[in-house]
Amino acid sequence: MITPLCITPNSTFILAGGADCHAITANTAQNESSALGTLTKSCATPDFKGLAQIALRRATNYALQNEAVKLLPNERVRFCLRHRVDATKGIEVKYNEKREQAHYSNVQRCGSVWVCPICSAQISEGRRQELKQGMAHWQRMGQDGAVYLLTLTNPHHHGDNLAQLLEGQKKALHRLWTLRKSREMFKALGKVGHITATEVTHGVNGWHPHYHILLFFKKPINSKSLRNFLASCWQNCCEKSGLKVPSLEHGVDLRDGKYADKYVSKWGLADEVTKGHIKKGREGSATPWDLLRLSEEGCKKSGRLFQVFADAFKGKRQLSWSKGLKRLLEVDEVTDEELATETEKDSVEVDILAMEIWRNTTL
Ligand SMILES: [Zn+2]
Repeated sequence: MITPLCITPNSTFILAGGADCHAITANTAQNESSALGTLTKSCATPDFKGLAQIALRRATNYALQNEAVKLLPNERVRFCLRHRVDATKGIEVKYNEKREQAHYSNVQRCGSVWVCPICSAQISEGRRQELKQGMAHWQRMGQDGAVYLLTLTNPHHHGDNLAQLLEGQKKALHRLWTLRKSREMFKALGKVGHITATEVTHGVNGWHPHYHILLFFKKPINSKSLRNFLASCWQNCCEKSGLKVPSLEHGVDLRDGKYADKYVSKWGLADEVTKGHIKKGREGSATPWDLLRLSEEGCKKSGRLFQVFADAFKGKRQLSWSKGLKRLLEVDEVTDEELATETEKDSVEVDILAMEIWRNTTL
C-alpha cells in the first residue's frame, strides 16, 4: 500500500518520499482539520524516522531554493513551484509508484540544473540514470569494451576569472579532440565515444573548474601510456588556449573501469545538494551548493561567489555526449526541462490541495 501522505507528531504534513514536495505546516485549525480529513486515510504505519529525514531534506532544499531566488532575482528559479501552470485548476498531489515519490502537479518548474536545488536533484538523477543505462548497454554489447575515467585540470589561483577559465578550458578541450596526433591515437586505440562532465569547486586557490570524461574503447588499453601521451597534449592545448600550463604530473589523470563505474554510480546524487555539512574537498574546497548553503547561513562572500558561478555556468550543459554515442548506447535525447517534469508521466493523482493550504506551503 502506498503511503504518500503522513503527519508527524508536531503536525507537520509531509509528502513522503518525494524529492520535490514541501513540508506543509498547517497554520490554522481550519487547514489542519481539512488536511487531516484527506491525509489520515492513506497513512497506514508512519515511518517517523524516515519521514523526519525526508522532511529535513525537503526543508533544506526549499530554504536553498529561496536563497537562490534572493541571490538571482531575475532568473527563472523565482517562478519555480510558486505559480500554477493552469491558473484555473488546483494544485494536484500525485504519486509516482516507480520512483516511490509524491510530488505536486500543475506547478511551474524552472528546469535550472545549476541554480535550483529542487530541479537540479530531479535532472541530475535523470542524467545519472542515462549514464548507468549507457554503461550497462556498453557492457551488454558483448564486446571486449572498456570505459576509462579521464580528469583534466589546469593551475588556477585566487582572483582568476571563472568565465575566462571556463572559456579557456573549452578551447583547450576542443583542441585536444581535434589535434591530428590525438585523433590518430584515439582511432588506433579504438575509441568509440566520450561523455564530458563539467564541474567546479571553490577553494583557497579560487575557482577550480575541471572535466571528468568517460572514454569508451572497443578493447582495454594501456592506460599508463595513454595518460602520458595525453599529459603532453593537454599541456600544449592549455598553452595555446591562454591557460596556465599544468605539469605533466598533475594536468591529466586516467583511471580504469572500476573508477569509471564508481564515478557513474555517485555522479549527480541528490544528496550532494542536501548534505547538512560542508563537503571538504582535498583542499578544503566548496561545491556551488556548499556556497549556496553558506550564503543561506549568512555568509555574504559565499553568496557573491554563487552569483558569479550562476552567471558563468548559465546555458552550459552538465553532461555532454560525443556525437552518435547516445544512439549507439540506445539512450534517448531528453532536455533538462523534460527531466524536471518527467516524474509526472508515470504518476497517479492522489488528491487536489485546497488553495489555502498550498499558499501556506509557499509562504
Ligand atoms: Zn526549479
